[in-house]
Amino acid sequence: MRMIEIKGFIKTSMVDWDGKVTSVIFLPNCNFRCPMCHNYELILNPSKYQSISISDVKRYLEMHSDFIDGVVITGGEPTMHKDLSSLIKQFRDMGFQIKLDTNGSFPNVIRNLVEKELVDYVAMDVKAPLTDGKYKKVAGVDVEISRIRESMDYLMKSGIEYEFRTTVVPTLHTEEDIIEIAREIEGAKKFVLQKFEPKNAMDEKLRKLKPHDASYLKQLAEKCKCFVSKIKVRA
Ligand code: SF4
Repeated sequence: MRMIEIKGFIKTSMVDWDGKVTSVIFLPNCNFRCPMCHNYELILNPSKYQSISISDVKRYLEMHSDFIDGVVITGGEPTMHKDLSSLIKQFRDMGFQIKLDTNGSFPNVIRNLVEKELVDYVAMDVKAPLTDGKYKKVAGVDVEISRIRESMDYLMKSGIEYEFRTTVVPTLHTEEDIIEIAREIEGAKKFVLQKFEPKNAMDEKLRKLKPHDASYLKQLAEKCKCFVSKIKVRA
């Protein structure tokens, strides 16, 4: 069977899973085209990147299992890949915890991974308030909102650890949009407001944009606290 091609590997990261030391694996392709995406080469031109062999990744993990807690699977959009569970299982069988980053548009894949106990933590993007027009503006494509809502509802009921996260982009989100997202995920375990990094944004027009600073995001977080008690700012 042809395995997923791994297109990026950060050997050691302290910032991709709160409180854990991880290795991060990047998978190619995505069904969204978010204008603020900074991994857009990975979704538009994945062949530009040399594939990394799974054996090399496993060898590194094995050699450093004394300090690496887990493996973060990111992209691109990992849940687009049919053999994602086989890939994850290989790390699972080595004893590593698994975090999945996802845009939430394949709820069945998320459900399947959770039910098979192949993931410990899911970080799901909530790009915008759940209306067709607003989501399309931030995801760059038409999105089936019902699938986003299904993933969201499932995670909230699943018992697994998770976070919802939104990258706040000045020209794409208003303050009301962020508060609306918080209202839609009311009662969630954790909501993360992420600072937008303009440098490598897919949409060139966004590259010159001044991002909101940490103090603005913290004020915004305060306004969302009546819906989600645990809110973090990543800036
Ligand atoms: S969902 Fe993530 S990987 Fe896909 S285009 Fe948007 S930011 Fe990029």
